[in-house]
Order: sequence, then structure tokens, then C-alpha cells
Amino acid sequence: MLDKCGYPIISKETAERLGRLQKPTCSQRAKERLLEGIMADGRKTQFVLAKKWRFLIDAPFMIGSGCCHHMKISPFKKYEKETGRIAPILGTMTAESKLREQKWLKNGCNAFNAKRTVSAPISFWTDADVWSYLRQYDVPYSKIYDMGYHRTGCVFCALGAQMDKSPNRFQRLKVTHPQIWYYCMKPKEDGGLGMREILEYVGIPFE
Ligand code: SF4
Repeated sequence: MLDKCGYPIISKETAERLGRLQKPTCSQRAKERLLEGIMADGRKTQFVLAKKWRFLIDAPFMIGSGCCHHMKISPFKKYEKETGRIAPILGTMTAESKLREQKWLKNGCNAFNAKRTVSAPISFWTDADVWSYLRQYDVPYSKIYDMGYHRTGCVFCALGAQMDKSPNRFQRLKVTHPQIWYYCMKPKEDGGLGMREILEYVGIPFE
């Protein structure tokens, strides 16, 4: 997946923009839009690649966030098609990302008129609300949260890792799951995921 879609770093939107700019086929028009915000019709958009991440365009590895599409969105779409269950109920929260906040501001908790009908009833909950609910109703939860992790997901995912407080997710992984950490950091040619090179390049500590 990493070979096909690139490494997910910084944020989904940034990884996607970087991935496009890295492609030799990226057109001049696309570059103008992604770097200067000039649209095809001459209008300006504010969605440009942040200057501080532009050095990553020349990184010696591919960047992207297409893995989310292949590993999450696409299987769900297939499931919806096969079962006819077309209105998912999601546990996403606006506190998790700017993108989720924007979606909620646009559609609310129940997006009937969006491209896809979805319900995200805890959109406006905070982490504290979730914990309070779990404790009040004695809801079982993964013990990974008691090891200091705030989120679950793909263990090597570096989206948002630059904002982690110390110890960050990779430093923590080394302590709680050293074998998985080692597999993540090992060079790809030795059968690992090659994260050491990526994190060093971006400037994210990992041990
Ligand atoms: S959570 Fe997993 S699928 Fe989503 S961007 Fe990160 S690595 Fe990719």
C-alpha cells in the first residue's frame, strides 16, 4: 500500500497535495493551483500547500494518503453495495481534525443532502465527553488507551505525528510494542516499512 499510495505524513490534505506535486505528470496548471492557489478560471483558492512543507516535494520517497481510500473508504462502499446498507453511522468527532470540523459545519450530524447520506451523532463530543460516557455507563474499551495512546488506527500512520506531544506515538510504540516498532522502522529492502527514513527526513523523533 505504501509503495502504491505513498507515505501518509503531516495531514491528509497535505499528503495528497505533496503526492500530486511529486508526480512527474503533474501539470503546470495543477502546480499553480496547489502552490499559488490559482484555479483554472483565474480565481484564487486558499487551499494551497503550506510553505513549511514544500521541502517535502523533493523527498526521496512517495507521499500520499490514498491508503485511506483503499483500506477504508473503498471496502465500505463495497459493503454498502453488497448489503444495501447505504447510510452509515460514524463515530467521528470534529475535535479530531479540521476536515471533520468543516464537514460538520457544512452538513451537521446528519448529512441527508451531502453526496453520501451519513450520520455522525457524536460529532460535537470532545474526548472528555467520550471518557465520561464510557465511565458512567461502564462501557468496555481497548486497553491500548491505558498505555497512553489517544487514537487507534494504522500503527505506522504518521498523519499529525508532527503535533504529538513528547513522547510521540513512535517513541511510545518503542516502549509498549518494541517488535512492531522495529518492523516499522526497518528499511523496506530488509522487509520493514522504512519509517525511520521518512521520520528522519520530516524531522519527527522516533526513539
Ligand atoms: S490511518 Fe491508515 S489508512 Fe488512514 S492514512 Fe493513516 S495509514 Fe493510511
